[in-house]
Amino acid sequence: MSQKAANDLQDLQHFGEYGGVNPSISDSSTYTFISAKTMFDTFEGNTEGCYLYSRHSTPSNLYLGEALAALEGTESANVTASGMGAITAVILQLCDAGDHIVTSRTIYGGTYAFMKNFLKKFNIETSFVDITDMNAVKKAIQPNTKMVYCESVSNPLLEVADIAALSKISIAHEIPLVVDNTFSPLSIRPAALGADVVIHSLTKFINGTSDCVAGVVCGTTEFCLGLKDVNNGAGMLLGSTLDSLRGASILKNMRTLHIRIKKHSENALYLAEKFEADGLRVVYPGLPSHPGHLKMMDQMHPQYGFGGLMTLDVGSLENANAFMELMQEKKLGYLAVSLGFYKTLFSAPGSSTSSEIPEDEQKEMGLGDGLIRFSIGLDDDIQRTYELMKQCMVQLNILENKPKVNK
Ligand code: PLP
Repeated sequence: MSQKAANDLQDLQHFGEYGGVNPSISDSSTYTFISAKTMFDTFEGNTEGCYLYSRHSTPSNLYLGEALAALEGTESANVTASGMGAITAVILQLCDAGDHIVTSRTIYGGTYAFMKNFLKKFNIETSFVDITDMNAVKKAIQPNTKMVYCESVSNPLLEVADIAALSKISIAHEIPLVVDNTFSPLSIRPAALGADVVIHSLTKFINGTSDCVAGVVCGTTEFCLGLKDVNNGAGMLLGSTLDSLRGASILKNMRTLHIRIKKHSENALYLAEKFEADGLRVVYPGLPSHPGHLKMMDQMHPQYGFGGLMTLDVGSLENANAFMELMQEKKLGYLAVSLGFYKTLFSAPGSSTSSEIPEDEQKEMGLGDGLIRFSIGLDDDIQRTYELMKQCMVQLNILENKPKVNK
């Protein structure tokens, strides 16, 4: 299925204003009309191909949206100024005050905080469940539930959601399934498995150069137009608009996504296999020991692999911090949050990207202090990287004091 995504992307061709091989960048916040009537009709949403104001849409952002809709196999896509800009707009579009959400308990910390804390303002409650337990998902659905939400491969624990099974539950309750696919572009195509809305933080693999934040909502034309509605569209009214210059640069970076994803996955699988053989506690969906391995195989396009994210538990925050500082010193990557960069990025999610989740809940979901999340880079010589990482562990006695692997 996902090969179709790459083919659809490959077939996209936009000419610039003067026949350039890159589409022209629209460098305007507002647009002129020959006739005042057309301006009125555009406000009403009745004119195709007319631009009004850049918070609504711009040619550059529409080109990028078209590429992302092709990637995800959806009718349409709206780009946003960040992944959170996409997530918050979708939630507020689908939920009214007093509604309820069922979500995976392992999700990005910002999404967790928005659902758990911010939505209290609107009396919107969220049930956080084990998304791999279909009975728990079914049981959590209430008459006022307005969406089931998950990440295809979750941040930071790399749990694999069974999207087709979740879609069946959503269909039975006539509520949409919203999937954040940030960790697995090209590998998994959630809409083909039944997701109604697919979200990405473009900040990560899709842009791939860690130089901006951006996001996207992929869905039906009706849903995407609804988000842009001038009277009650959450996208239009919350105003999380991507700048056209950024939209154009992300579109250019997206052209190498298929090559990058294969290399991220190849390198991550190599390291995960090596560290597992060393007896370390590694989590990677490409390892048969991962509880979601078979589900991932079932849902993914094998050509793009199991993704670039891997976690390693080195037992304590002290070990994790010392290891990350040493790896950075040895030029193995950066001690930094985020993912999808050409260099390896590592951070301890318990004290960074998931610190919004209270400690007791972190423990319950298996997020230990010593857990390091790696976004594996595009290193040409991954064997050398492995050897250097291992030298760091030896220097810090991490291999001797490693936590026991529970088989
Ligand atoms: N979704 C996932 C899975 C993420 O990891 C992140 C950020 O780390 C986001 C959404 C939020 O994206 P952004 O930082 O672009 O707002």
